[in-house]
Amino acid sequence: MEGKPHSKLPDLGTTIFTEMTALANRHGALNLAQGFPDLPPPEGLVDAAVRALRGGVHQYAPMAGRPDLRDWICDHHQNRHGHLYSSENECTIGAGASSLLFAAIQAFVHSGDQVVVQSPAYDLYGPAVQLAGGHLREVPLLDASGEWNLDALLEACTPAVRMVILNTPHNPTGTACPAGFLEALAAHLEGTDTLVLSDEVYGPIVHDGRPEISLAACAGLRDRGLAFGSFGKLLQVTGWKIGWAVGPAALTAELRKVHQYDVFSTGAPLQAALAEFLPTDDGAQHLAGLAAMYQAKRDRLLDGLRGTAWQCTPAEGGFFQVLDASQLIDGDDGRWAREWTRTHGIATIPLSAFYAPPIPQVRLCFAKEDATLDAAVERLRHIASDHAG
Ligand code: PMP
Ligand code: GLN
Repeated sequence: MEGKPHSKLPDLGTTIFTEMTALANRHGALNLAQGFPDLPPPEGLVDAAVRALRGGVHQYAPMAGRPDLRDWICDHHQNRHGHLYSSENECTIGAGASSLLFAAIQAFVHSGDQVVVQSPAYDLYGPAVQLAGGHLREVPLLDASGEWNLDALLEACTPAVRMVILNTPHNPTGTACPAGFLEALAAHLEGTDTLVLSDEVYGPIVHDGRPEISLAACAGLRDRGLAFGSFGKLLQVTGWKIGWAVGPAALTAELRKVHQYDVFSTGAPLQAALAEFLPTDDGAQHLAGLAAMYQAKRDRLLDGLRGTAWQCTPAEGGFFQVLDASQLIDGDDGRWAREWTRTHGIATIPLSAFYAPPIPQVRLCFAKEDATLDAAVERLRHIASDHAG
């Protein structure tokens, strides 16, 4: 067969994250492209994982996830957001937040349905909606002054819309949902059947004293929505691929129908380790210090770049920083991000992967050891001086 036989996603290639990581590895470049920490996970967590493996936890975990880990997730939501989900029928553990976001989209989006997404968006949502036969309606995340654009979102949310997908703190822009935004959306959606998926994988990582915003805390959206979290982001274990979804029982039941035939059950010894470590003092301390740790890393990066031609608005949450290179290059950041990986030994994500037409901006992951950040600063300063000269 020629071409792309029977492809349901004929226009898709490999993700920009995979591409840039491969390029970084090929050229021995610092990889600030794909979003993963080079920081070790808490030692107590690793010890617990070894104990689980040595202790014989090798067989399937329950389909919805280990009950003790689900209990922790539900307590975590109650403590942070004041709402207690039932660990029995309102919480599901999957292979990263990705698998559950994907399952939720397959579970609820019917052929021909409209799904509203703020753009630029994490790259999973679009193909998942396409596979379900839905139509993606992209609205700009930010307005001209760089604020979250409520009007654009509300205008797109007509009663015919099946689903809205939100993400805060936001990947790739590093912005965070402003207070009151979810409540305004809730008021707008009243009387409709529109569902809301809230991708909160960077949830607690908010900077400069901002509040952590969650669908779980918004009474007007909670009944029509699922919120998604990821242990990978909270504990520097992205490779473990364990995440969760919480939401009302009726939505959770539908989500689990897909999850049980897709992932079914994931990482039993890793779930055991998480369930052991998270309730300990070390676990609580780790989570309590997470936002401050990442804010300090953001500041280290930005302090290092002060006075150069790289422009930026400091990230409000998460561990990505966008740098504007418009004083260095015109247009095609995709070409330059690849070029800088080869010539200056630093890999970034060109924001053009998310925008058409391309814009001269790159995304950096600052979830890195201070030494990595310092080396990155040096290379970025070289880029700036080479382009000025
Ligand atoms: N959503 C967003 C916005 C992300 O950045 C990521 C990170 N890869 C995910 C979902 C997926 O999380 P996980 O690794 O737990 O599948
Ligand atoms: N979430 C990660 C990022 O934004 C990428 C995960 C992946 O490679 N699919 O960099």
